[in-house]
Amino acid sequence: MSSTAAEMVISDRIAGNLKRVHEEMARACDRVGRAHNEVELVAVTKTHEAETIAVAFDQGQRLFGESRVQEARAKIPLLPAPARWHFIGHLQKNKIRHALPLFEMIHSVDSVELAQQIDRIAAEEGLHPRVLVEINVAGEASKHGVPVGNAEAALEKILALPRLSLEGLMTIPPLARDPENSRPFFRKLRQLREEVEVSLGMKLAHLSMGMSDDFTVAIEEGATLVRVGTRIFGAR
Ligand SMILES: *Cc1c(COP(=O)(O)O)cnc(C)c1O
Repeated sequence: MSSTAAEMVISDRIAGNLKRVHEEMARACDRVGRAHNEVELVAVTKTHEAETIAVAFDQGQRLFGESRVQEARAKIPLLPAPARWHFIGHLQKNKIRHALPLFEMIHSVDSVELAQQIDRIAAEEGLHPRVLVEINVAGEASKHGVPVGNAEAALEKILALPRLSLEGLMTIPPLARDPENSRPFFRKLRQLREEVEVSLGMKLAHLSMGMSDDFTVAIEEGATLVRVGTRIFGAR
């Protein structure tokens, strides 16, 4: 199939965006002495069509993030199999069974109850999902996530669930115009990880934090997964 001129413009723009995001990620790593391969880009594809996502795939992007199960179910089969998918949105209980086989990681386990349901369904389906626990670092009433004060107790319960592989923490800081405003929340998530690693006696490999506006700050504060949509695919 030949590409139209308009398609080529879109494809050039996404290629350029991806290149710039990777350059900024590398520079952020350099500033704090981290190895470039310590941080992976999750290209957030929600609302974008499979053809658009395929452009990023053709540019070498392999890891993608979706926040709605229905949408992901429709699109994931349209992308080549080497694409890997992470679920980053609020997971409704009645969508767990559909989500589990599609996603290699769930970033957004936002309650012990949800974790227990995932564990139960994973057992029925013979799966071992890798999960991150979403922490409501700023304590915003409007946000999902485990409050910082409950984090240790919640993580202890989630750790005891036999089917779940607990691999880290995720957060979404309050919306801010200046990315520096996100820094204290990213730092707090990293400190929380250090505390619970001691109290639970285990390592948590991942910190999922940073979006289009603040991913470089998140990398400076220790992010291992940055979730970037708009900077790659444009406004939704
Ligand atoms: C949409 C979304 C993102 C990406 O946001 P951008 O500002 O477009 O980079 C990251 N994380 C979550 C949880 C999202 O829902």
